Amino acid sequence: MPTITQIEIIDLNLPFSHPFKIALAVMDSAHNIVIRIHDSDGLVGVGEGVPSRFVTGEAPETAFEAAKLYANFLIGKNPLEIDSHLATLERYMLKNPAIRCAYDLALYDLLARHAGLPLYALLGGTKQVLHSNRTLGIDSPAAMAQTAKAFVAEGAKYLKVKVGTGRAEDIARIRAIRESVGGGIPMRLDANQAWDEITAIKILNDLAEYEIEVCEQPLPYWNAEGLRRVRERSPIAIMADESIFDAHDAFRLASIGAVDYFNIKLAKSAGIHGALKINAIGEAAGVKCMLGGMSESLIGVSAGAHLICACPNIALHDLDSPFHFAEDPTFGGVDFQPNGMVTLSDAPGHGADVKPEWVEKSRRVVIGGS
Ligand SMILES: [Mg+2]
Repeated sequence: MPTITQIEIIDLNLPFSHPFKIALAVMDSAHNIVIRIHDSDGLVGVGEGVPSRFVTGEAPETAFEAAKLYANFLIGKNPLEIDSHLATLERYMLKNPAIRCAYDLALYDLLARHAGLPLYALLGGTKQVLHSNRTLGIDSPAAMAQTAKAFVAEGAKYLKVKVGTGRAEDIARIRAIRESVGGGIPMRLDANQAWDEITAIKILNDLAEYEIEVCEQPLPYWNAEGLRRVRERSPIAIMADESIFDAHDAFRLASIGAVDYFNIKLAKSAGIHGALKINAIGEAAGVKCMLGGMSESLIGVSAGAHLICACPNIALHDLDSPFHFAEDPTFGGVDFQPNGMVTLSDAPGHGADVKPEWVEKSRRVVIGGS
């Protein structure tokens, strides 16, 4: 059996081409942590985690240090024993889901490379062409309408629209976007916890006529009962995002009928292992899933795309974070077109890695020998 010989921890500092505003923050760059696990058979598995101060409670600095602590548990171990390793990392230090995600993805990637299979095949899936939405950050109604029109001109079939600055402004945004793109392009709203219950119910009823497919996280993350009450009074389907990290959250939300959809993000679920459990609970409860993201590069996005191909219950795909970056630090992995079309390759694993020049210029620590 192979053993883990070396772990590289790489801090990718990725400037955005434009600032991206949501109800929680304005972002102009991402700090993603990439883990590369080398083993005694000469194979390498690559994973990525996106720490988020205001969602996962991790900063790039804490995630980088946590990655070093976690690495010590894996050197010398058999990389194929994924379940046991992930349980060890969780027991050693709870939370830190984004950095545990980076390890989870690297271990699954390595397993698939040992099997000589693309990750979707390892997971029992069927290769498909995926259609991601394109996402609009918060801006003036006129500016958002213009961006929406540009996305649709590029071929986008679904729009995700960030809202959450107030009832009049949010309704004006949606009306302007719908007028500019016309009918037939479903919109997915994301309020990022900005509204209270009464505001959410009023806005969602006001928006019933605008072809809104779903509204994501209308309320603060802790208000599961509130989500249920909004859902009961809303003509638009409700999705949990910041309210759901793991299978326990999924079970609790499904038990009270709080939502129509779960937004699975690998940075919240601590990777594929946790995502499969959430999806299974959703499937059992009649709750469909979205596969979303934070600010993943094509490494995290490729892993997510392979997971989608193995989970038919993951019906909505929000994978367009790589379009934020001024430069692409990766090679390999999925092909992602501006129209939202995502095409997988049949390379072993998820197929994506960091370009050597980005390894060179990034903060990096190597643990273990060669
Ligand atoms: Mg969201």
